[in-house]
Amino acid sequence: MAQENWFTEKHAASGSSIGYRVAEKLADTQTPFQHIEVWRTTDWGNLMVIDGCTMLTTRDNFLYHEMMTHPALYTHAAPRDVAIIGGGDCGTLREVLRHPEITSVVQVDIDEQVTRLAEKFFPELCESNADPRARLLFDDGIKFMADAQPASLDVVIVDSTDPVGPAEGLFNAKFYASCFRALREGGILVQQSESPLVLLDLIQSIHKAMHEVGFAATRTLPFPQPCYPTGWWSTTLARKGGDLATFREADAAARPFATRYYNAGVHRAALAQPEFLRTALPA
Ligand code: SAM
Repeated sequence: MAQENWFTEKHAASGSSIGYRVAEKLADTQTPFQHIEVWRTTDWGNLMVIDGCTMLTTRDNFLYHEMMTHPALYTHAAPRDVAIIGGGDCGTLREVLRHPEITSVVQVDIDEQVTRLAEKFFPELCESNADPRARLLFDDGIKFMADAQPASLDVVIVDSTDPVGPAEGLFNAKFYASCFRALREGGILVQQSESPLVLLDLIQSIHKAMHEVGFAATRTLPFPQPCYPTGWWSTTLARKGGDLATFREADAAARPFATRYYNAGVHRAALAQPEFLRTALPA
């Protein structure tokens, strides 16, 4: 029998690992910021790994990208201007651009190589990159938000790597204060917030920092994500005025584009807080 090769991500914080049977390595590059690998797997399509951590697979990235975008965009009353911090694989950008009412989206990823590799190995995620409403910048998202015009954005989506290395400064009160200032009244900040099962402390600190800088409401929405440690992930939303417990349900139900995971029922269900989150996080 031919020998099988596997890529395995070992997750020290949970003492567990997730792996894929791989057929070949498609790319391996050390950029000034991080080490990026792309593998062709036997069952999950292509797999992108940054600094040993799984970023996305062809097979299951729709879960993450849809939950990072549609709940916020269907909660905001009339979103027009969006910023994505990180998100270099462009999947989040594609989902935002599905909303016809959006007039501008700027994506700011520190590492251009992530986008170049996504164009090559995840072309379906990059199909909207030439949309005239989209602007792709390659710069530090912390600096971009610090320099952003006050009250110029409706939604800021932080689609970052884990809070280490270049992404460390995307998870603290100083960065959230820049986002708060750049958002208009009713604006929403979305932060990818890791595994609720093993990183509840981090999620609590995210809520605390968001409230500290002035956000009125915060909410964590869990969702399944097989390729990330523990298989269960979350997005944490913060709102500048207004609540996060209700959304434009009729608009979400009548959305003019296809999704694979998100719908009004999934959104409603994600708002129901599992007991251990309900007791640990602000209402
Ligand atoms: N959602 C994925 C996850 O949780 O594994 C992350 C996907 S996306 C590829 C993450 C992106 O964040 C990377 O492309 C990385 O270059 C970018 N990034 C990290 N720190 C950043 C910073 N300070 N400013 C802008 N982008 C940053």
